[in-house]
Amino acid sequence: MGGQWPGVQIPAPRPALIHMLVRAVPEPSAGFPPPVSSRGMSKRPMILVTNDDGIRSPGLKALAGSLEEVGEVSVIAPDRERSAAGHSLTLHKPLRATEIAPRWYVVDGTPTDCVTLGVMGVLKERPRLVVSGINLGANLGDDITYSGTVSAAVEGTLLGIPAIAISAVEPSEHGLATAAGFAVRLALVVLERGLPRDTLLNVNVPAGEVRGVAVTRQGKRSYNELIVEKMDPRGKTYYWIGGGEPTWELLGGTDYEAVVEGKISITPLHLDLTNYAAAEALKGWETLLT
Ligand code: MN
Repeated sequence: MGGQWPGVQIPAPRPALIHMLVRAVPEPSAGFPPPVSSRGMSKRPMILVTNDDGIRSPGLKALAGSLEEVGEVSVIAPDRERSAAGHSLTLHKPLRATEIAPRWYVVDGTPTDCVTLGVMGVLKERPRLVVSGINLGANLGDDITYSGTVSAAVEGTLLGIPAIAISAVEPSEHGLATAAGFAVRLALVVLERGLPRDTLLNVNVPAGEVRGVAVTRQGKRSYNELIVEKMDPRGKTYYWIGGGEPTWELLGGTDYEAVVEGKISITPLHLDLTNYAAAEALKGWETLLT
């Protein structure tokens, strides 16, 4: 084992600390019920960890290592980088899940494939929590619709499991350590209190020193200079998506504003994409189109 994946450093599991740590979390307040099984836990909760940067990512290693403090971590991650894979699911080829170390599996598919295989097939028990990341770079605003990191958490939510996506704006050693430490704190709270129905958390950890935590809304990116047009060595035009630095609309209360202010951003996302105000406004179209 491991010979096929020389770059993969598997962290050693840490001793069980779950009972002590869970007790340290304050009692849940009114609003939404805690998960049924979070009380009187007799064993460490199973946590499924995945990402979209691939099995060799230092972000994955940092996250899996830190969450060993919270529960029994199983890692199921793509064999290569699948950033911007969105919520794609592999339907037209078989998938392999290879155990490269105890509770570390590599899959030749997307982040969504990894969560689906983990929950429906590979793992012996149903995870209590899905955590995706730590992404090497931010997942803010409109970008989350492309994000494989966020989509893996979406898949957990679709399967009825509380899920967190976590990204480090600055993927340095310090940035990853900060995000990994916060993931532990947040995982304990989510395991204790649960999440509102059909809701996942998209977390972005800012660069530099952290100056607080903010619950935010999704920001808005300005799309400009997105495509680079060049000529290949044979004189044919090619295009490259993603040229230039992204710019953002400065809107109050957004994920972008929070990380600019040095705060950890937590955006609750839900899977119902309906624009209810628009549905009301367009009601008149029913007769118009009948
Ligand atoms: Mn990524």
